[in-house]
Amino acid sequence: MALDAADASGTVTSTTPGLVCGHTHLYSALARGMPAPRHTPRNFTEILEGVWWRVDRALDHEMLRWSAMLGALEALESGTTAIVDHHSSPNAIEGSLDVIAQACADVGVRVVCCYEVTDRNGTDGAKAGLAENERFLRAGGRGIVGAHAAFTLSDETLDAVCGLAADLGVGVHVHVAEDPVDAGAGERLAPRADDRWILAHAVHLERPLPGVVVHNPRSNLNNGVGYSRPGRFPRVALGTDGIGADMLEEFRLAVALARADDVTFSPATAWAWLAAGTSLVPEARDDEVTWSYEPADAWHLAYTTDIHPVRVEVAGETVFDEDGPTRVDAAEVRARAAEQAARLHARLEE
Ligand SMILES: [Zn+2]
Repeated sequence: MALDAADASGTVTSTTPGLVCGHTHLYSALARGMPAPRHTPRNFTEILEGVWWRVDRALDHEMLRWSAMLGALEALESGTTAIVDHHSSPNAIEGSLDVIAQACADVGVRVVCCYEVTDRNGTDGAKAGLAENERFLRAGGRGIVGAHAAFTLSDETLDAVCGLAADLGVGVHVHVAEDPVDAGAGERLAPRADDRWILAHAVHLERPLPGVVVHNPRSNLNNGVGYSRPGRFPRVALGTDGIGADMLEEFRLAVALARADDVTFSPATAWAWLAAGTSLVPEARDDEVTWSYEPADAWHLAYTTDIHPVRVEVAGETVFDEDGPTRVDAAEVRARAAEQAARLHARLEE
């Protein structure tokens, strides 16, 4: 990334291109503070079943709208101008990708959408997920085809996902070997993947696959799934997997986690992973973030917390400045999101 120190007012700042969150779930922004599962989840599968598959089934379009608005707002406030989203709302599938795309457009953040196809909600659920990807993409939406993870897709459904992606000339965004439960993913995806694929996690992936591996250090730590050693893969970007969109924070975590494993690891490597996010959303290279700190250098940023953007420009438009977001009222977005979070949490208690 370009690292220039400059500011007309004399304040010390630096600029970078827009940061990219290479893997997230905007639908999960309202989950924080949700009612705890009845039994404490003891492993990755129980976390999916007890937390995330309860949340996604409870979502309707109104909750999704304000979850995405909050997630997009938080991205902008962190200097992240592009989000690669992976969506699931099994009881509100049709039109869901439009809701997310519109929310991001309203805030002024770029988004690459997909709907995660899965067999975990039956054949009709898988078909509806495929149809939502196809509907959105054929209408000109910015996105690729989504799939949950190989371990929740039959070979037939996986072939349907790949067939749709081939028809539409796009890649597939899929969770890959996040936990040992999905350890068979590499073998099943190897004959299917290509360079356009987005491979989230790859913690237990035993072979390189074509595509970009997106490393999500905070999420991997939080779920206790292990360390992926992403340096073993040729193409790596960084994501948050739904826990905000603060990519400088994710970069710092990537550095700390890598150095816990190998103390010779250089922050410059993790900085290159962060910069590689623009290979997923090249338009973000045209965006500009002015930071409250200089220099924007890997060894400085890895050990300096509390750095924030003072100005964010997306496609030439200032969408964030010292007064906050320019297109939306941040307080109103947070208030509406809190109302919808209360609805979601009440539904989870039922
Ligand atoms: Zn994920």
